[in-house]
Amino acid sequence: MEAIAEKKSYQVNDRGYYGTFGGAFIPEMLYPNVEELRENYLQIIADPSFQKEFNDLLRHYVGRPTPLYPAHRLSEKYKTNIFLKREDLCHTGAHKVNNTIGQILMAQRLGKKRIVAETGAGQHGVATATVCALMNLECIVYMGELDIERQAPNVARMKMLGAEVRPATCGSRTLKDATNEAMRHWINNPVDTHYIIGSVVGPHPYPDMVARFQSVISEEIRWQLKEHTGKETPDYVVACVGGGSNAAGAFYHFLDEENVKLVAVEAAGLGLTSGHSAATVALGKPGVLHGSRTILMQTEDGQVVEPFSISAGLDYPGIGPQHAWLAASGRGTFLSATDDEAVQAAFELTRLEGIIPALESSHALAVLGRLGASKDETVVLNLSGRGDKDMGTYMKHID
Ligand SMILES: *Cc1c(COP(=O)(O)O)cnc(C)c1O
Repeated sequence: MEAIAEKKSYQVNDRGYYGTFGGAFIPEMLYPNVEELRENYLQIIADPSFQKEFNDLLRHYVGRPTPLYPAHRLSEKYKTNIFLKREDLCHTGAHKVNNTIGQILMAQRLGKKRIVAETGAGQHGVATATVCALMNLECIVYMGELDIERQAPNVARMKMLGAEVRPATCGSRTLKDATNEAMRHWINNPVDTHYIIGSVVGPHPYPDMVARFQSVISEEIRWQLKEHTGKETPDYVVACVGGGSNAAGAFYHFLDEENVKLVAVEAAGLGLTSGHSAATVALGKPGVLHGSRTILMQTEDGQVVEPFSISAGLDYPGIGPQHAWLAASGRGTFLSATDDEAVQAAFELTRLEGIIPALESSHALAVLGRLGASKDETVVLNLSGRGDKDMGTYMKHID
């Protein structure tokens, strides 16, 4: 019995930790907001009326269930059985909306009138502005001044959706600075504002809450795979990792089945040893970032290193605490793919299957040949988003 009680868990414990990672390292001013969320989130999620509204919106608004597509030509090429979980077909073009739908319903139930969010490339900002339009809530999105210049189409989408986009003008004027500004705004407006974080990062309970909203991905994979193959569990689940929300959702219902290999793919940028990468697990060390103890890329004296990746969604110097624990415990396998490998994989999928993937998802595709999967095994790859937003980059590689 003792052994069962001590069975290793990959889920958060009641103190907000995954092994030695997680927790809530926050300024005192933020404590009431985070505490209010922590005290209420499980009860709200479990409420049948919440479940009904969440599931109805996922079905009729987002377009779930997304298909689990048996990719025949890709399978032939890699001599194994590859299924693509088509999160690219979600409304707004990626998995992020699963989380923003859940969080906007949470905000309503907590009586909040205004939403604040951070965004890097603008994908999470667009997903947040979308649900705010849907629910008629005020939306303020902080975005680095540099990112505002680089990501004009997503800035326009957010504005059309009625959001106010506020520039973060400090530091490198990118995602990290936008996150700091959004947190500052939240501190100053604790009563009426909810902060929608875009990945499985931040102080407890955010990583667990976001993972629960994204877990619909693996919930669907199980019954869909059974329809295709007669078996609910694949041999491999593969997903790219920025903060880690699409991977967390794809892994969620397989965490305790140790025969299912969980493969996370980070962005190696120009190469692991180039000094220009975002491969947190490969290069990072434990530390505290944006409210949780996790693994992050840092200098000898603990300064956060500026990340680099061709894909804005993976361009983050940290990783969610659950992933840090999957890496440290050995439950997860962490690989990386370079910018060039990702672009090549994007073209390969497009030409073999007629699907243009997001640059982020292309990092996961890039490791298919390295898994060592046999012809009798099954691989589920989470295709986190579509490539429309990346056409500018892809065009540079078309003669
Ligand atoms: C934002 C984004 C990611 C990275 O975020 P995770 O939280 O790691 O999932 C991956 N793919 C797409 C398409 C994205 O928009």
